[in-house]
Amino acid sequence: MTAIYERPFDTLLDEAVAFHGHLCPGQVLGVRMTVAGCRALGIADPRQAGKRLVVLVEIDRCATDAIQALTGVSLGKRTLKHVDHGKMAATFADTVTREAVRVLARDDARPAVVVAGEPDARRAQTIAYRTMPEDRLLRLERVTVDPGWLDRRRVRVACTQCGEGVNYEREVRAGGRVLCRGCAGESYYAPAAPDSPRL
Ligand SMILES: [Zn+2]
Ligand SMILES: [Zn+2]
Repeated sequence: MTAIYERPFDTLLDEAVAFHGHLCPGQVLGVRMTVAGCRALGIADPRQAGKRLVVLVEIDRCATDAIQALTGVSLGKRTLKHVDHGKMAATFADTVTREAVRVLARDDARPAVVVAGEPDARRAQTIAYRTMPEDRLLRLERVTVDPGWLDRRRVRVACTQCGEGVNYEREVRAGGRVLCRGCAGESYYAPAAPDSPRL
């Protein structure tokens, strides 16, 4: 078995593109982020790592699909976490050793992209991201992940306001009350207008 960080780049990119549906700068970036993260943790074959590898992505964009395609992490397996901070970054965490590495796509890599004979900015980015030295493209940082993200206990409580069940300790406890995040003021939706079509 060849370690993911020793496999040919184009093979990895092909797998990412097959999953994502198109070739874009995000696929190239996602492949490079995955290779860097797995190498830093010494996880040679992330698909065989089971639930050992958890990736916390900070953005829902093209690169996230590449990370999922190459590592096998997924929301359903609870090995992919979307921490919605809007940054092109992902933290690769080894739940056994507790080591974690945050991989950030450097903003200062973008303006550096000039490819001779390629006027299309996206295509120039796609080409440049393949070959740019890793330390120009990415910034790696050893971090410690809040254990609540990695070992959420299998518990379920009911919100004292709406009564809906809340799993994995995602409730909010305030003033002796147990509330779901929606009832605690963090809702992402509001009831539709009273004249909307009935269900
Ligand atoms: Zn894309
Ligand atoms: Zn509630």
